[in-house]
Amino acid sequence: MDPMAPAIWKNYAPNKCRLFLWLAHKDRLYTNERRFRRGIATTASCPFCNNSESINHLLFTCAQTRQIWAELNSLCHTTPNSIATCCGSLMNDKVRSTVIIAILWNIWKRRNAKVFRAETQDAYKLLRACADDLMLWSNRCSSELKKSLLLEWRSMVLLLAGRM
Ligand SMILES: [Zn+2]
Repeated sequence: MDPMAPAIWKNYAPNKCRLFLWLAHKDRLYTNERRFRRGIATTASCPFCNNSESINHLLFTCAQTRQIWAELNSLCHTTPNSIATCCGSLMNDKVRSTVIIAILWNIWKRRNAKVFRAETQDAYKLLRACADDLMLWSNRCSSELKKSLLLEWRSMVLLLAGRM
């Protein structure tokens, strides 16, 4: 079994979001780097800066996303630069896996808004969208304790949104 599988599949996120993370983990996400390699994009560049848009660049090391991860470093016990460093420490922590997926999923959605609809969203909007998802997904917790932990993380994400 893939050692990353529990962190990706055992959490409270909807299936489409888990599948997105699985594809990212398997290096199958259609970033500009991959689209350019396949001849379906005219540039390999990140839509937010001039670096090549690899999966790790998009999700972790592009300037604004790196800042978000640095602020939330208690989530992964480090400032992650890859899915392995992001999820590697939380094999059976369903709550933190859920928070991580919410952040990654909204980074991906923001990127798609920029690439396909020319919409620019700031970090505040990205983190508000994460907080909204976490509120919604908390209803998927059968344990009251896990639900309250998830809502604590949501509050932390909202506080960070206010500071960005
Ligand atoms: Zn970038």
